[in-house]
Amino acid sequence: MKITKIQSHVLEYDLPEELGYSQQFYAKRTAHLVEVSTDEGITGWGECFGPGNIARANKGIIDGVIAPMVLGMDPMDRDVIWHKVYNLMRDHGQKGMPLQSLSGVDIALWDIAGKVAGLPIHKLIGGAHRTRVQVYGYGMMLRREDTDALVARFVDEAAAIKGMGFAATKMKVGLGPRNDVKLCEAVRKGVGEDFDFMVDANHCYTTHDAFYVGRALEELRAYWFEEPVAPEDLDGYRELRVGLKVNISGGEAEFNRWGWRQILENRGLDIAQPEVCALGGITEYLRVLALCHAHFTPVVNHVWGSAIAVATNLQLLAAMPPLPGGLHPREPLLEFDTTDNKFRDELLLEPLNIPAQVAAKGGSVAIPNGPGLGVEPDRDFIEHYSA
Ligand code: CA
Repeated sequence: MKITKIQSHVLEYDLPEELGYSQQFYAKRTAHLVEVSTDEGITGWGECFGPGNIARANKGIIDGVIAPMVLGMDPMDRDVIWHKVYNLMRDHGQKGMPLQSLSGVDIALWDIAGKVAGLPIHKLIGGAHRTRVQVYGYGMMLRREDTDALVARFVDEAAAIKGMGFAATKMKVGLGPRNDVKLCEAVRKGVGEDFDFMVDANHCYTTHDAFYVGRALEELRAYWFEEPVAPEDLDGYRELRVGLKVNISGGEAEFNRWGWRQILENRGLDIAQPEVCALGGITEYLRVLALCHAHFTPVVNHVWGSAIAVATNLQLLAAMPPLPGGLHPREPLLEFDTTDNKFRDELLLEPLNIPAQVAAKGGSVAIPNGPGLGVEPDRDFIEHYSA
């Protein structure tokens, strides 16, 4: 079996409203799908993390750098391909966009392997530890509104996400520490006392400001405090984890086993959030998962992007061993963006219908059992939204 073609599909549309997080506002939704074709007619799908012009640049890396290395190779040789590409790109990028680009190709190779075997990816990894996974719905994005308007919006939106049946919810902050605490109070008010909410700072704070917000989150009993400081600030992470009761989470901006070894050995994370579409694909995710569990750090995957990314994560969440195990373990969660995303809701021939499953099944969603990722995208839809 040989790889005959690697094609990037960058999809894009204008969002109905501008959305923001602590670093920027954005008005377009983008997805970068990777399609790997073979001489036996089997096609695999993957996805690369990275919006807008990042997706366009990653397409350039796949077309110009990765594809020439990989065309003609056996798609079943996933680990051989991973190391060939990584070793030849190492001098030019051990993190960031080269790894995001490799991730999409690697995920597509796993989809092919599953289709060859006639088995879902979770079976190739070692089987399903669970057939359903609880879902948390994130929303509460920033808008160009004053703080009072945003506070009122966050109360209502948090209550609405809880009302949709999600198991927990997650909000953005980024107005500055004092106003951010008001937003967090609004979300606690919106969800009531007995419901988990999480806070995502997208690394906008200094360590000092993160302590100020983190102490408020202790009082509000937030479940986790995500990317409080810059991913490079290992000292800040470690000091926050020692000094705060709220769980410190992060890792979506970390790559491969060597990057993850460093942040795990630093002991700055209560919860690890690896991003399979960025850190190096499923092949590397499994090594990172093993490292996290070797450090007894629980994992809640970072999920962003289209239905391909969601399906990939459902396969991985099915196959994630319990840590440390028990009658009533803290189960992993699927991250689900509740804001407008056609690429998640309408891309597939048979949609996952996650909000409907969440509403009907106590906040949980079923793991797809078809071969590979267990989902197939609609080519007419891809054609329509190609950027
Ligand atoms: Ca995040």
